[in-house]
Amino acid sequence: MKLDLHTHSAASDGLLAPAALLAKAREAGVELFSITDHDTLAAYDAIGHDEWHGTMRVVPGVELSAQWRGQVVHVLGYGFDHAGGALRAGIAVQRQGREERAAAIGEALKRRGIDGAFEGARALAGDGSIGRPHFARHLVAVGAVRTFDEAFSRYLSDRATARMPQRWATLADAVGWIVADGGQAVLAHPLKYQCTRTRLRELLADFAAAGGRGLEVLCGRQPPHALAELTGLCARFELEASAGSDFHAPEAWLASPGVMPSLPESVPALWERWVSSS
Ligand code: AMP
Ligand code: MN
Ligand code: MN
Ligand code: MN
Repeated sequence: MKLDLHTHSAASDGLLAPAALLAKAREAGVELFSITDHDTLAAYDAIGHDEWHGTMRVVPGVELSAQWRGQVVHVLGYGFDHAGGALRAGIAVQRQGREERAAAIGEALKRRGIDGAFEGARALAGDGSIGRPHFARHLVAVGAVRTFDEAFSRYLSDRATARMPQRWATLADAVGWIVADGGQAVLAHPLKYQCTRTRLRELLADFAAAGGRGLEVLCGRQPPHALAELTGLCARFELEASAGSDFHAPEAWLASPGVMPSLPESVPALWERWVSSS
């Protein structure tokens, strides 16, 4: 089955409006899909909460930023009740945290001689969930850097923002909100946290103990060895496999919605519960 359970719309740091993102996934032949914007459900307020869009099934999703032992990790949530209150209440707090951090990034850029960056990023985010990519796009647009990646390496890296206000939920709270609203929590892109393998196993143990259900074993373009390693970690921590492109914008060198290798049969897939309940 062609699926993509990790994508971003313009409600957070993606470029396509939610409806356009859905259309792109349908054109690509995706059968099971989720929009997982950063700390917002606004895409679903825009496209509606229908499960079926033609022949494509859409599972509600979100990507929460969370703190774990002084590091930021991303927790994906799926299949939660839209009417539930825990996730929405949590997201309202995350949103406030994003605004505070964005103001601090704007101040830091001002001290480095770049005025108006907060206003520029805010305008690009519209009423969506503001993040570092909006700053990066603004810095490219005003010529302060040549490329998006240069904006991150010079001004927006995790290191650069580490001492700014980061009012993210704890890992346990982020998982807890999703579970409280009847959903499943999945640890996003486990190999992108730049930690040792020992520390990654500690993260997975804490995640599973908090009620985490799945591990993203396929995320966009990844090195060939990653899939085997991650399916091995699924087995070890009794987690289910999830998969997504982490699509943000049409770029030739990045994964498009629905384009990814298939999963080995040996590992239980998170989406089996949804497919078998249809
Ligand atoms: P934020 O949620 O505001 O902390 O921003 C994180 C987002 O920025 C990620 O979801 C990516 O879309 C993007 N991102 C993070 N690090 C980089 C990087 N080094 N280069 C390009 N994009 C990045
Ligand atoms: Mn992003
Ligand atoms: Mn992420
Ligand atoms: Mn993502």
